[in-house]
Amino acid sequence: MDEDEWICGRLGEDEPWMLGAVNPPVFENSLFTFATAEELGEAIRDEDERYVYWRGTNPTVDLAQRKLAALERGERAKCFGSGMGAISATISSLVSAGDHVLVLGAVYGPTTQFLRYLEKFGVTHTHVDDLAGCDSAIRDSTRLLYFESPSYMAYAVVDIAEVTGWARERGLVSVMDNTWSTPLFQKPLTMGVDLVVHSLSKYIGGHSDLVGGVVIGPARLIRPLALTEYQLYGAAMSPHDAAKVIKGLRTLPVRMAAHQERGLAVASFLNDHPGVRSVNHPGLPSHPGHAIAMRQMAGFSSLFSLVLDTESREEVATFIDKLRYFRIGVSWGGFESLVNAPALSTEESVRATMGIPVGLVRLSVGLEPADALIKDLGLALEGVGRLA
Ligand code: PLP
Repeated sequence: MDEDEWICGRLGEDEPWMLGAVNPPVFENSLFTFATAEELGEAIRDEDERYVYWRGTNPTVDLAQRKLAALERGERAKCFGSGMGAISATISSLVSAGDHVLVLGAVYGPTTQFLRYLEKFGVTHTHVDDLAGCDSAIRDSTRLLYFESPSYMAYAVVDIAEVTGWARERGLVSVMDNTWSTPLFQKPLTMGVDLVVHSLSKYIGGHSDLVGGVVIGPARLIRPLALTEYQLYGAAMSPHDAAKVIKGLRTLPVRMAAHQERGLAVASFLNDHPGVRSVNHPGLPSHPGHAIAMRQMAGFSSLFSLVLDTESREEVATFIDKLRYFRIGVSWGGFESLVNAPALSTEESVRATMGIPVGLVRLSVGLEPADALIKDLGLALEGVGRLA
């Protein structure tokens, strides 16, 4: 068993309070009581470490946090009621009125929306494509560099060590969304990132039955965030969801191995298909970021996009509607294969400014047999006629 498998399956699970239970108890109480008023006072003063009230701390959530921190090789983790809960609290904890944020590459849409929302509090941001862009956009007031790798929808790869080196030299804090890879396939804290955020609603949960998030990093950054933004914004994780996260972690290593294999098989089939212009999957040798990905990642998840050889929204819709195994919906990382075409749900003018091709289709390859998924895609491409 390697270290990560042990963390997923066993870390923190042999403690006396678990009474030998195979699954950790779900602490369903909103509050904890104390023998004396003085003890309660002490606990409130140290609420990040002590159990007082569910909106702050909970033992089941704590166990999930210990495992996630260990998997990312971070000192501390704080779980939230959603990925956006983690992202908004993390960014808020690092900036003040007058500060500026650099956003490198494409990031999850609501993260950008949140940065726009912060403008009303005097926090500004600039989107840039690369380090040259960072060099031109940095200001005296820049505090934070935020990015994802692989990037959102385009799955472009960022050289993490290079980017964090650049940020450190300029005194910026770096935050990276590592949801795509999971901590099994990429450990950004070991490459200089200051804080890593995840949506736990994707591969880590793994069964499309929970919404959650986490931020992981050094105690000096997590503790103030846990005492302030976590408590005040109130995006607390429930112990029931923490128990699901712990269950998801038990099978994460075997699920990710299967997702990787199936995702690559499907991506390779599409990459060779004449009806497909390009496939954005960093595990394919033809991907422009493949060499960097091989250096900094231990594996590839199964979320990627392809561009159909069409400029017609109707043809994209026909392709999607003809799929049988791939279910139509948002989100990703579950056992079920999913398809989503951003061009169909985005206004034409917005799509054009975002640079999303009409034919861009996102696939989340689930745990169904790869040959069945490939057959499904082949038939749907044939179903559009011109793309056969
Ligand atoms: N980060 C990425 C890359 C995502 O795709 C998502 C959700 O789709 C989030 C963060 C937000 O997570 P949640 O939906 O759990 O708030």
